[in-house]
Amino acid sequence: MAQQRCRSVLITGCSRGIGLGLARGLAAASPAPDWVIATCRCPEKAQELQQLSKQYSNIKLLQLDVVCENSIKKVVKEVEEILGDKGLNCLINNAGINVVASLEEVTAETMLTIYETNTVAQLMVTKAFLPLLKKAAQLSTGMGCHRAAIINMSSLAASMQLVQANEMFLKVYPYRIAKTALNMITRCLAADLKEDRILCISLHPGWIQTDMGGDMAPLQIQEAIPDILSVLANLSEKDNGSFLDGQGGTLPW
Ligand code: NDP
Repeated sequence: MAQQRCRSVLITGCSRGIGLGLARGLAAASPAPDWVIATCRCPEKAQELQQLSKQYSNIKLLQLDVVCENSIKKVVKEVEEILGDKGLNCLINNAGINVVASLEEVTAETMLTIYETNTVAQLMVTKAFLPLLKKAAQLSTGMGCHRAAIINMSSLAASMQLVQANEMFLKVYPYRIAKTALNMITRCLAADLKEDRILCISLHPGWIQTDMGGDMAPLQIQEAIPDILSVLANLSEKDNGSFLDGQGGTLPW
C-alpha cells in the first residue's frame, strides 16, 4: 500500500473470493505490509489460503468466525502477540453472506441471520480490534491505511438513493438491508473515531466473479484487486465516512 507504508492489515473471510484475492494482492504488493493477517472460519478447509501462507512469509493465517464471540476474543489475543506495541493499521471487514429472498420469500429468520453476519459481526469485530487500531493511530500522522483504518465491505445494493436504478437487487431484501445498516455503522464510526484519527469507509468492491458475485459478474478477482488496493492505498482524511466504489468513485448513500 502507498507512499506511507501500512505495516499490518487484518482481513476477515479469506477462505475464498475477494478476501482471498486481497490477501494475495497485499502479500505480493510492493512495498508489502509486514503482516497480512488473513482470517477465515475454517483454516483446515481453506486449501488455497494455506498454500498462500506457505508462499508468502508475511501472511499469517488465523481462525476467525465473525459471529462467534469467543473466536473474536481469541484472535484479538493472537494478533496482539504478533503486532505488539505497533498495533493494527488496517481492518478489512470483508466476510459476508448473501441470502436471495424477494418480498414474497423473505422471513424473519433470514433477515436475522444476515443481519448477524453482515452487520452485527462487523461492529463486534471492529470493537474488539479498537485498542489495537488506537495503538497504531498514535504512532503515525495523517489519516489512512498507513495509520489506522476500518474498511467495511458494503455493496451498491445498499444505496437507498439508487434503489430505482438497480431493480435487479429487489430479490435480495435481507442482503441489501443489512448492508445499508452496515453503511450506518461506517458513518457512526467515522464520526466517533475521528478524534482518534481512525478512518472508516464503506467500499463497494465492484461486481466480481466469486461464489457470491456469480458467473455473470463483469469483473474477475485478479482484475478487480489492484484497483481496490489502489483505492485503499490512497485513502486520506477527505475520505473518512464515505461510500466508495472499487475505482475510488463516490457512491450515494
Ligand atoms: P464469497 O461468498 O465468495 O466469500 C465470502 C467469504 O466470507 C468466505 O470466505 C466465507 O467463508 C466468509 N464468511 C462468511 N461468513 C463468515 C463468518 N461467519 N465468519 C468468517 N467468515 C465468514 O463472497 P465475496 O468474496 O464475493 O464477497 C466478499 C465481500 O464483498 C462480502 O461482504 C460481499 O457482501 C461483498 N461484495 C461482493 C460483491 C461481489 O460482486 N462479489 C459485490 C458487492 C459486495 P467460508 O468459506 O467459511 O464460508
